Amino acid sequence: MPRKDYLKSVRRVVVKIGSSSITENGRISEKRIETFVRDIAAVKSRGYEVIVVSSGAISAGAGEAKIALEHLAIPVKQALAAVGQTVLMNSYRHAMQQHGIMAGQILMTEDDVKNRRRFLNLRNTINALLKMNAVPVINENDSVAVQEIKVGDNDTLSVHVAHMAEAQLLILLSDVDGFYRDLSDDEPIDVVHKIDENIRAMAGGSGSRYGTGGMQTKINAADKVIKSGEMMVIASAAEKSVIERIVSGEKLGTLFIHPDDVTMPGRKRWISFNMNEKGSVTVDDGAYRALAEKKKSLLAIGVVSVEGSFSPGDAVSIIHNNRSIGKGVVNYSNEELNKIAGVRSDKIASVLGREYYDEVIHRDNLIVF
Ligand code: GLU
Repeated sequence: MPRKDYLKSVRRVVVKIGSSSITENGRISEKRIETFVRDIAAVKSRGYEVIVVSSGAISAGAGEAKIALEHLAIPVKQALAAVGQTVLMNSYRHAMQQHGIMAGQILMTEDDVKNRRRFLNLRNTINALLKMNAVPVINENDSVAVQEIKVGDNDTLSVHVAHMAEAQLLILLSDVDGFYRDLSDDEPIDVVHKIDENIRAMAGGSGSRYGTGGMQTKINAADKVIKSGEMMVIASAAEKSVIERIVSGEKLGTLFIHPDDVTMPGRKRWISFNMNEKGSVTVDDGAYRALAEKKKSLLAIGVVSVEGSFSPGDAVSIIHNNRSIGKGVVNYSNEELNKIAGVRSDKIASVLGREYYDEVIHRDNLIVF
């Protein structure tokens, strides 16, 4: 299918831009931000809603403070982010004003993504900004986020933003102009439909075009995006009118899209991307087939063993043959599950004293990878 057809459904776009694409010689480049914003304004005037995830706070802060970026202690980086974020926003404000667009700054951390109430509040803020015709400009709140509560990189943060905003397309702009099959290719792969072992190896294995890190993060991002039925493009920020050309369906960079028309319901996306597993449940062959092929719920009879400490409502990973095959929200605690593992549903009441649910994990609360 031509790219144009895939991209027809896009109304809301999240565009992530990397630090190196908006800085020059260690300082924020007004010129580069203006070029980027001109592209955003063009896309907006065609009726698209645009959300920006912009890196560059720490680089901008280092430029402002005239400090070299290498070997800095974490509090110093956090301080530079505090200084640089205002420099960054100042540039966005100035550039957007020239097109009559308001910029709205949002800074978030991992906490805001994992906590349902904060997640929904942020969604409301983003929606309200878009309604005002403003462009949300989002970054990690580096000045408050210590390692434990950090998303850590803006490729991953932008997946959360795309999910939060229910955007149909995420564009990752950086100095990487696409995803290449191997070292010697001249052109990036046009369309990738599935993130398999092969693709992962190309992204970071030995002999691959990329070092570890950068591309692997982007491929993990693509995996999440396409599993939830949305699209992602990796393209070069240096390409002229890159956003406008991508949404128009031009063959630029690499498009990641699921081959089938899948849309993961919001509830499953939340479980899949925002809930941390508190333990795991190992299942037998019969249960594996019921889950993977027949899309059924997980019943106690198919549970072989239980690991970790969890309560009803927590997420656990589902293990079969030592491999994690899915994730779901349990109706029973680990203690209860230990007692009813292998037990038929109609016997749960007699084992536990009372029965809460027929299913250990209901299929509406379950994702099979
Ligand atoms: N939040 C960081 C910054 O603004 C960037 C993180 C990233 O680019 O992945 O400097």
